[in-house]
Amino acid sequence: MDPKTIDHDIVIIGSGPAGLQAALHAGRRKANVAVLGKLKNSSLSRAHLENYCCMDNTLIGSEMLDQGKVQALRAGAVFYEEDVLEIGQESDGSFSLLTESEKHLKFKALILAMGVSRNRLNVPGEKALLGKGVSYCVDCDGGFFKNQTVAVVGNESAAASGALTLLLIADNVHLIYKELLVSDTLKNQVENSDIIKHPGLWVKAVEGQESVEGLILSNEDRLKVDGLFIELGAKGALELATRLGVSLDPENFKYILTNKKQETNIAGVYAAGDICGPPWQVAKAVGEGCIAGMEAAAYIKKN
Ligand SMILES: Cc1cc2nc3c(=O)[nH]c(=O)nc-3n(C[C@H](O)[C@H](O)[C@H](O)COP(=O)(O)OP(=O)(O)OC[C@H]3O[C@@H](n4cnc5c(N)ncnc54)[C@H](O)[C@@H]3O)c2cc1C
Repeated sequence: MDPKTIDHDIVIIGSGPAGLQAALHAGRRKANVAVLGKLKNSSLSRAHLENYCCMDNTLIGSEMLDQGKVQALRAGAVFYEEDVLEIGQESDGSFSLLTESEKHLKFKALILAMGVSRNRLNVPGEKALLGKGVSYCVDCDGGFFKNQTVAVVGNESAAASGALTLLLIADNVHLIYKELLVSDTLKNQVENSDIIKHPGLWVKAVEGQESVEGLILSNEDRLKVDGLFIELGAKGALELATRLGVSLDPENFKYILTNKKQETNIAGVYAAGDICGPPWQVAKAVGEGCIAGMEAAAYIKKN
């Protein structure tokens, strides 16, 4: 085994309310739990809550997250506050993942609690050309751009790793970013690649009639492209899940399908919170996190 590999019983991807509650319940059942993800990227970090049962005051989301982390630590969980880039299943049935700082974790059960990406660029043309060259998912739509020219916009791991993936498919890949906020390893990979880099810039508008024809950048330059991938934030939750073979809801393929035990179609893989679909509420995220944490801990005992 790789000497850098870290072993855990349960890995939880996502440190929002769903992931933190799952960590609390699994940790208290004496499982060896790791939580991945940045608290500041939880939707809750931007929210003020007035509809959380038994708490009459307005709750400040970022303070709730800090408190949740303290509780999860007290229950024995370990935190790696970084993004996950890859998840896989090993031949022995266990799982493994790779983080942006190249940590390699091996574990027996997985809880997916990565929330949903609400990150839109909110620029002219984005909505009208969605599905006509504008995409939020490299792994879902990258294949449509074989031998074409595409751009990726974003500052974080989703954009950097998405652009690297697209290099294997498209002829030309532009990466548009204000500042690359990624690990040194990922930064080096981008710098030493054929990606055409546009540092210090952003996308101001998407142009095209029937499909994407080009972009207007923040310095007013025009870039001719066939597609734009909007990758704001961490590596897309659904991209990671679908690569593992996790089933999505059959109606719109936007959410992870679970049963009442928060089990997915893969034994040992659970999901909780916004990633399982609306209503997007903390009360639901916490409830599902609780069940997922307990069920994952029970799974570990049996296997
Ligand atoms: C402005 C705003 C106001 C809101 N107001 C309310 C309200 O009043 N009441 C209410 O109940 N709800 C409210 N919500 C919704 C609520 O915040 C969410 O329902 C809740 O945070 C969902 O929890 P979650 O744990 O499923 O996902 P999130 O809290 O979004 O957490 C997702 C976690 O996954 C991590 N992650 C994602 N991708 C990766 C990756 N590749 N690798 C590692 N980690 C990853 C993120 O870093 C984050 O830690 C509001 C949301 C917003 C944005």
